[in-house]
Amino acid sequence: MRDQGQVETGVVDALIALEASFASLPDAELLVAIDELAARRRAIDAAIVRAAAEAAARSDHRPADESLVRCAGYGSVERMLQAKIGVRWSEAKQLRAVASATSEMVAISGGTIPIRYPEVAAALAQGWLSVPQAHAITSGLDKHHGRASAEDVEDAERLLVSVGCGTHVDDVEPAVPETLTVLAKRCLDHIDPDGDEPRYEQQLADRYLAFTRSSRGGYDIRGHCTDDQQEVIAACFDAEVKPRRVVFEDACGATDEPVLDADGNPIEQPIDDRTMEQRRLDAFVAIVNRHAEASAPRICGEAPTLTITVAADVLAGQPATTLEDLPTLSRTGETVPVSIAARYLCDSFVQILVQDDAGQPLRMGRKRRLFSKSQRRAIVARDRHCRAPGCTAPPGWCETHHVTPWSYGGDTDVDNGILLCQHHHTELHRGALTITRAPQPTITEPADHPTDPSTPPTTRGRRPRTRPRRWRVTSAYPRRHRTRTPLRR
Ligand SMILES: [Zn+2]
Ligand SMILES: [Zn+2]
Repeated sequence: MRDQGQVETGVVDALIALEASFASLPDAELLVAIDELAARRRAIDAAIVRAAAEAAARSDHRPADESLVRCAGYGSVERMLQAKIGVRWSEAKQLRAVASATSEMVAISGGTIPIRYPEVAAALAQGWLSVPQAHAITSGLDKHHGRASAEDVEDAERLLVSVGCGTHVDDVEPAVPETLTVLAKRCLDHIDPDGDEPRYEQQLADRYLAFTRSSRGGYDIRGHCTDDQQEVIAACFDAEVKPRRVVFEDACGATDEPVLDADGNPIEQPIDDRTMEQRRLDAFVAIVNRHAEASAPRICGEAPTLTITVAADVLAGQPATTLEDLPTLSRTGETVPVSIAARYLCDSFVQILVQDDAGQPLRMGRKRRLFSKSQRRAIVARDRHCRAPGCTAPPGWCETHHVTPWSYGGDTDVDNGILLCQHHHTELHRGALTITRAPQPTITEPADHPTDPSTPPTTRGRRPRTRPRRWRVTSAYPRRHRTRTPLRR
């Protein structure tokens, strides 16, 4: 249940007028002051809603040359609200929508149309509900489109208002607008005589997924799915996008402690500055990739294979002499950077067709270039997760990179392999990360038989059961040029 403010009105007035400072308030009073300020904000917003309704009445039913907002130089009530309050367009629309849902309207015939949502209007006027909460309730219930009875809609409105104010028996706190939106939909599903079937059918009919060639290169992805389809996709993405932050400890007890410089500052900073949206797309591609490798339907026993054609010289770092030398995707004929072809060559189901000078395909089957299952197991046992500093992507999400590229004669053996997640693997081939030889740890064996029998047995040093790591991944640039919002969540 909301408190209508317990702090002395004078104290809050002084705070608003900058005559007092929040720094002087003890913790408990600061929270009460925020409650009080929020209550005032709701009261002011409710007054703005009533003013907006009046402005709309003086604009909508008058000829254009007498319309209040037009005479004031605005195209609509929303534009006027946006300019005067300084809010986003969506917020101005929200104010206008709540104003028309909670005020009496004048019909074209001249009569009065009663308030559509009187309970919401009352709670808003008394400062119990905020405008976004009122909007969640009214816009949610508006979707019944006349299919439910007026009494049922009233009952639903009463329930939602009580939940929004925090007065419902089950509530601890007033429900936030997001909760009210979900609850309003649930109410409609309940009171609609047809149930939720028609709305679901519409969602189902509207579903689509489209890839369209973008004018700036690459593809735009657009789509629509049903609630349950989104749930499945989101659950799958969550696991990919938010990797568990775990501290790995191997058999010999070594943990992934950050490496410190002479002043004790960590040298290897986490170097994943992808936005949540970028991570989501990477996750989508990774999921499709894994499916293609493991369980996609086979055509004549063959996994779906994408072919990249590239000249051997170009892959080895020589400039391309003809257009055909560039790495080319077989399906679309689009060219891709050499670094990307090189990444696929390391560890992917993608078939790389390397051609010699005469354009004849060289015998470079995927079998020899890819790490075998047992090699990969050994690399996983040693590396345990993506080796990029700060990245803990587990082995299942990682590709195996050839430290000395396979096209440069690097062997497909365990010592030449390193685990990297798809994102860091790409960054490495693009030159944003480098791999250097890690200093080899020296292992000293303690004496097996203590000479003094009175000495209590000490914990014996154990040999690591896995091979020591030979490689260390570091950022190639001291400070990377950030073009994206850093991920700090
Ligand atoms: Zn690689
Ligand atoms: Zn990584």
